[in-house]
Amino acid sequence: MMERVRRGAAWVLDLIFPPRCAFCGTLLDGEREVCALCRDQLPWAAGQEGERKGEFFSRCVFPLRYQDMVRRGIHGLKFEGRSACAGVYGAMMARCVRERLEGPFHIVTWVPVSRARLRRRGYDQARLLAREVAEALGKHAMATLRKVRHNQPQSSLTGVSARRANALDCYRAVEPRRLAGRRVLLVDDVITSGATLSECARVLLSAGAAEVCCVTLAGAGKGGKKTGSVRPFAGETGHGRGENGRR
Ligand SMILES: [Zn+2]
Repeated sequence: MMERVRRGAAWVLDLIFPPRCAFCGTLLDGEREVCALCRDQLPWAAGQEGERKGEFFSRCVFPLRYQDMVRRGIHGLKFEGRSACAGVYGAMMARCVRERLEGPFHIVTWVPVSRARLRRRGYDQARLLAREVAEALGKHAMATLRKVRHNQPQSSLTGVSARRANALDCYRAVEPRRLAGRRVLLVDDVITSGATLSECARVLLSAGAAEVCCVTLAGAGKGGKKTGSVRPFAGETGHGRGENGRR
């Protein structure tokens, strides 16, 4: 009986909000979550390509390269209110963690946005991703960091040292005693230079965490250079808004 109700509700929801591809936004036609075209062309990051080492985190793993439809998908999640994509992305990230990182992790957490940004956007995309990743790993996502300084968007800077300086002292640990001796899985949407993740990992370690590993949906070139532009999701105007990692 409950199953019928649930399926009925899903059917009604599909009518009101027809399912769209989590990467390009086109209406799905019998496919699940990702359209056939995107599924064929997703830039999977295989082997070493899907992994980065950092100064303060041991490893960062990611299933995809940050290009084309992946960039478009993340742009949709961050700036176009497509928070529903987080479920699909989070599932991919959790699979990546299971395949490439040695568990278990005591804490699943995320790189937070500032309060001002949160107010404007209404949600924190990394938190949404962390919630999905945690759920898939049988955990609850937990806030461990707070953004205390508003900095320039990392994507407006080139070069690792500029990005490092920009991320410095932007984050504080909340309730450090919960971190003592714990292995932490830190979630974000993209790794580019790794400066933000590294700074967050530094704060977590100095608050007492035993180890920090990271997972993101995608990884870009180390210099964090952007290539190409972002096309808006299908059916949306985009209003010429740039990407520029407005966190
Ligand atoms: Zn698609």
